[in-house]
Amino acid sequence: MDEKEQVRRAALYILQSGLVKGTWGNVSLLSGGKVYITPSGVPYDELEAQDIAVVDLESGDQIEGRQRASSELPMHLQIYRDHKAIRAIVHVHSIYATAFACMRKPIPCYVEDQAMILGGSVQVAEYALPGTWELAKNASKALGDRFAVLLSNHGAVAVGRSMKEALVAAQILEKSAQIAYLVGKNGKLLEENDIQYLRKVYIDSYSRKLEE
Ligand SMILES: [Zn+2]
Repeated sequence: MDEKEQVRRAALYILQSGLVKGTWGNVSLLSGGKVYITPSGVPYDELEAQDIAVVDLESGDQIEGRQRASSELPMHLQIYRDHKAIRAIVHVHSIYATAFACMRKPIPCYVEDQAMILGGSVQVAEYALPGTWELAKNASKALGDRFAVLLSNHGAVAVGRSMKEALVAAQILEKSAQIAYLVGKNGKLLEENDIQYLRKVYIDSYSRKLEE
C-alpha cells in the first residue's frame, strides 16, 4: 500500500474507532525523507489520496497535495527529527487520555501491554498553544523513548515504527488511560524493572519480525 493510502486509511480508522471526532486529530507517515500528513479541515470520510500533503522533513516545505498540511505539522516534524526510529505519528483527542492531559497527570503503568507497546507510564508535555513550535518541542521532549505522550489540556500523541504500530499504540494509550482511571488509587503499579524487561522483549521481537 502506498504512503498516501496508508495515511488516508489511518485517518478513517481513528475517526471510526472513536479516537477523534469530526476533523480533529491528524496522522502522518515518514518515508524517504518525506512526511505524508493529513490536510487541515477535510472530513476524514471524504479524504482522497490527492488531499494528503507531502512535506520535506528537512526544510518543512510542502511539496505535494492540493490541501494545506495539518496545522500540527510542526509537532510531526519535530518528533521525526528528534526520534530517528519513529516512522508514524497519530494525534488523537480520545476521551480518557485527554482527561489525564487536562489533569496534567501522567498515566501510570498498571498493565503489561502498556509497558510493552508504550514503554511505561505516559508523560505530560508542558502546555503550549496548538500548532506552535513550542508545543512541538514540549511534546517531543516529553515523549522521550516512549511511544505515547499527553498534550496538556488538549489530547495525546501515539507513535510507532510503522503506521500499524502507531495505531495500536493509540488504542493501547486510550485503554491504559481508562484502566488507570477505573483503578484510581487502588491499583498496584508494575515495577520499573519489569516494565523495562517487557518493553525490551516487545521491541526486540517486533524488530526481528520486521527483518523477516
Ligand atoms: Zn489536537
